[in-house]
Amino acid sequence: MTTAPLIDQACPFCGLACDDLVLQGGPDLAVRAGGGACPRATRLYAQVGATLQDADARAWIAGAPVPVETAVQEAARLLGRAQAPLFGGLSTDVHGMRSLVALADRCGAVLDHMNADGKLRNLRTVQDAGWITTTLSEVRNRADVVVCFGSDVRTRFPRFFERCVWVDEPMFAPQAEEREVIFIGAPPGVELPRSPAGRMPQVIDIPAGRLPEAAAMLRGLIGGSLPAGTATDLPLEALRAVAARLHAARYGVVVWVAADMDWPHAELCVQSLTAAIGVLNQTTRAAGLPLGGSDGDFSADAVMLWQTGYPYRSSLATGTARYEPVMNATAALLARDEIDFMLWTGSFDPERRPPDPGRAALVALTCVGTPLLPDAAVQIQIATPGVDAAGYFFRADKVVALPLRPMIDRQLPSVAQLASRWLTGLGVAAC
Ligand code: SF4
Repeated sequence: MTTAPLIDQACPFCGLACDDLVLQGGPDLAVRAGGGACPRATRLYAQVGATLQDADARAWIAGAPVPVETAVQEAARLLGRAQAPLFGGLSTDVHGMRSLVALADRCGAVLDHMNADGKLRNLRTVQDAGWITTTLSEVRNRADVVVCFGSDVRTRFPRFFERCVWVDEPMFAPQAEEREVIFIGAPPGVELPRSPAGRMPQVIDIPAGRLPEAAAMLRGLIGGSLPAGTATDLPLEALRAVAARLHAARYGVVVWVAADMDWPHAELCVQSLTAAIGVLNQTTRAAGLPLGGSDGDFSADAVMLWQTGYPYRSSLATGTARYEPVMNATAALLARDEIDFMLWTGSFDPERRPPDPGRAALVALTCVGTPLLPDAAVQIQIATPGVDAAGYFFRADKVVALPLRPMIDRQLPSVAQLASRWLTGLGVAAC
């Protein structure tokens, strides 16, 4: 494993998958984020890529440290006797997810990703009405007006503006300072990004609970269907100005982060935005940019679609995929006490931990930095793609799967290795 700096590394710690990082595996085998890393990447590389001493435990059974091999065998035993398994978390890369889907197929497991709630807000819109969306490169090279709806974007995607909006020499779009950035309903108290010259974006304050109303109003204003004299205490004239600006734009982009839309039926809000974008395309170009892909959710989703034809929250219990986005939610399955085994995978963020498994046996595959989980029957530390395992990671716009290269070697098993091992060990009669 190299100790020389590696340039142009892809970062797996949010959906942007920035591919311009300089990383170095030092003599202590820690990964250091060099040029290009945002605070989130710097923190997570330090946590997830921390040194392990020989004496450090790498696996536990019921909280007691054990050799990894013992934990692997105990997990296999628990999986082998499971009648109703759930594979949750699913925070991994393409290789890991392929192996988990194969294992789930063998066991008849339900598959559900930790970010499925946000993903479904978008998916329901696509199912109902379709949409017009764009890519990070298109935003970078073409967008002249960028409207961020209901999110400051930067909290979850720290380098979005640096990488996609305020860029030098875009191919077709205006230069950075000429681009217009408008925030509608950004969370209060969050510092919004400024342009390189220090220009503040336009901000339209909308209380969080009224974002759906604002989205519907914007749709009505863009489509010309909002009745004259509509009475509202929302900033109607400011929204009217945004509608006019998007109509006049050469390439307007509406950005939203479904993970931030944490309210019932948020898909209706997404639908309002996408319908407005549809109207804009009758006279100019406009597109949506639904940002996601963090924790490997788009990688997991892509593999689910290749391998089963359905998104996550599908059950493979009957030998064919059955997609039930409400019934197969992890929280719903646990609340109904319908599972007896949960395999949890968390490769990228030690803060993302499994829910209380109830009566189910929990086998947790966790990245370095995750504390001991008191509810886990078995816990095994795993390699993280892009830190100490190779892999592929789908970016937020789903058009690019970036290679992740290992920087260090801590002798940790990858998700793919463990899942393949359990698959082989299950034999023909198990599950
Ligand atoms: S913005 Fe996201 S992908 Fe880019 S360096 Fe930060 S965490 Fe990594």
